[in-house]
This record gives sequence, structure tokens and C-alpha cells, in this order.
Amino acid sequence: MSTFQRILVTGGAGFIGSHVMDALRGRNAQVTVLDDLNDYYSPAIKRANLAACLGAITLIEGDIRDADLIEKTFAEGRFDAVIHLAARAGVRPSWADPELYYSTNVLGTLRLLEACRRHGVKKMVFASSSSVYGINKKVPFAETDLIDRTISPYAASKLSGEQLCANYAYVHDIQCVCLRFFTVYGPRQRPDLAISKFVRHLLNDQPIERYGNGLTQRDYTYIEDIVSGVLSALDYTQTPFEIVNLGGSDTTTLNDLISAIELSVGRTARIIEQPDQPGDVPLTYADVTKARTLFGYTPKTSIREGIKKYVTWVKTGAPA
Ligand code: NAD
Repeated sequence: MSTFQRILVTGGAGFIGSHVMDALRGRNAQVTVLDDLNDYYSPAIKRANLAACLGAITLIEGDIRDADLIEKTFAEGRFDAVIHLAARAGVRPSWADPELYYSTNVLGTLRLLEACRRHGVKKMVFASSSSVYGINKKVPFAETDLIDRTISPYAASKLSGEQLCANYAYVHDIQCVCLRFFTVYGPRQRPDLAISKFVRHLLNDQPIERYGNGLTQRDYTYIEDIVSGVLSALDYTQTPFEIVNLGGSDTTTLNDLISAIELSVGRTARIIEQPDQPGDVPLTYADVTKARTLFGYTPKTSIREGIKKYVTWVKTGAPA
């Protein structure tokens, strides 16, 4: 286990961030969250995500692009590690406001790396995305694959983030692990994501919108598997820079996903067919050999099991 004592978690109020916060509670570290609690989805949900941690952490509400705030936060926090999860997330919405995505995800990441350099922080874990593989034809996707076919501003921004991490790792000795998350789901999932929408619509007996013919495939990763990978990346110190896939290492078609949700909810979906969306890729599929080798990572929750757990959470614990 790492010996980091003062950890900054950006985006700690979000879906993945709040689970990382819960996991960090078991460690003897002072944790600060920097999150602007923006209204991409309800800030009340983000506050609720953090509710259980609030007494034990420092929450700073602000923007990772705010240079003065970043300077003050790093000067006061004297961090020894940063887990950088804050971002404008999502492929489709990045086409609606590409500048916002690019400035948050690229300039924001640069500001944090610069602050790490100025303040002697030697460790960063960066949330990248499977979307960087774009329309990669080779499956499963491995970290050694040539990346030159991203098809959304979001994917391009994450790729830039990885490259900035590489720059600072090799030139300024800030050890960086970039994690390529493959479609993450589970309790507190972002409400804009398909599983969240499908489950809620089905429970409320509303039709669901299916984009494309239902044959697109995704590698879905249960949140607990992602959190274990994030903590392993924090603990990993052997090499200056790594890019590592974190996936479920299995693929599910959209139609099979809908069937799994129907089974768990106990209702048949009424489907409204919609055309494919720009930026959506036909397939994601993670080769997790590297994560297994470096971290001992093994995804534990199958899609059927994970969907069941998620449906139970929506029925019993989700904020409205
Ligand atoms: P999320 O939107 O729930 O969490 C992101 C958090 O970052 C939010 O709480 C938001 O308020 C905060 N944030 C956004 N812009 C900010 C800014 N300028 N300053 C400070 N805080 C800001 O998203 P998530 O699904 O938890 O994703 C977490 C990270 O993982 C993101 O970097 C995302 O790109 C990446 N990722 C997620 C998935 C997935 O399937 N959920 C897949 C691949 C990569």
C-alpha cells in the first residue's frame, strides 16, 4: 500500500471520484477534493455522493482551470499525490461544446501538472478513456495499439491529457499512471449514461431510446473493479510512466445489455429506434493483460451481476 499522506482527488464528487473517496477512507491519508460541482448533471447528486465522507475530508469547490485557485490549493495542501478524475466526460456531449471539453480536459490537466511541478508533487493518476482507441479495428484493444483514429473531441482531449502526463513524467520526474477506463457503471453512475437511463425508464414504464441497430458492443466495467485499479495505480511506483487499460475484458451488445436490464427489472422494454450518434464507436474491448501484470487486476463482476446490483441500488438507494 502506498505511503501517500496528503492526496488531492479532482472530480471527487462525481460518479467514479466518490467511490474512490469511499475507498480512500480506509487509508490513513488526508484527502482533499477539488470539484466545481457543475450542473452537467445535478450538483445535488454530487453532494449526496460525497455525503458519507464530508466530515473526514476537505472539499474545495472550484475549477481545475482556475490558476489562482490551483496555486493556493497546492500551496496549502502540500500534496504528495494527485488522483485526477475531474473532466467533462462523455463522447456525444463533447460534440455539442467541444471547446468546453478541450479546455477542461486539456488546460485543466496542464494546470494540475504544472502545479505538481512547482510544488514537488511526484505522483499523478490520470483518468483517461477507452474512447482514445476510436475506430480501432484490432481487438481486444491493447495499450500498444497505434492510436490515430479518435472520433470525438472528448477522445482527443483525453489523448492530449495522456501526452501531457508523459511530458511531465519524463521531463519533470512526476510519476504518472494514465488509466483508460472502459464504460464504467454501478451505483451513482452518471445519469446521462445508457444503463442509468434504461433502468430508470423501465422502472417507470417509459420507452427507451436505442441508438443504432443494437449490435454495437461495449466492454462494461463495474465500479468496484475500477476503484481497485485506481488504488493499485496509486500504489504502483516502479516505472515513470504507464498507460493501462481498466476494463471488464468482455463485450456486450446493446441488445444484450437491454435484455439483462429487462431481466433484472422484470419488464419488457418498449424501444424507440434512433440513428447512430456522431462519435459513437462500434466496439470497445479491453485487453487487461497489462493491468493484470502490473497491478494483479482481475475484473470480478460480470455484466449480469453488475446490472442486478445497479437495479437494486436504483430501487432502494438512488437519489431521485
Ligand atoms: P462525473 O461527471 O460523474 O465526474 C467528474 C467530476 O468532475 C464531476 O463531479 C464534475 O463536477 C467534476 N468537474 C468537471 N469539470 C471540472 C472542473 N473544470 N473543475 C473541477 N471539477 C470539475 O464523471 P465520471 O463518470 O465519474 O468520470 C470520472 C473520470 O473518468 C473523468 O475524467 C472521465 O472522463 C473518466 N472516464 C469515465 C468513464 C465512465 O464510463 N464513467 C469512462 C472513461 C473515462
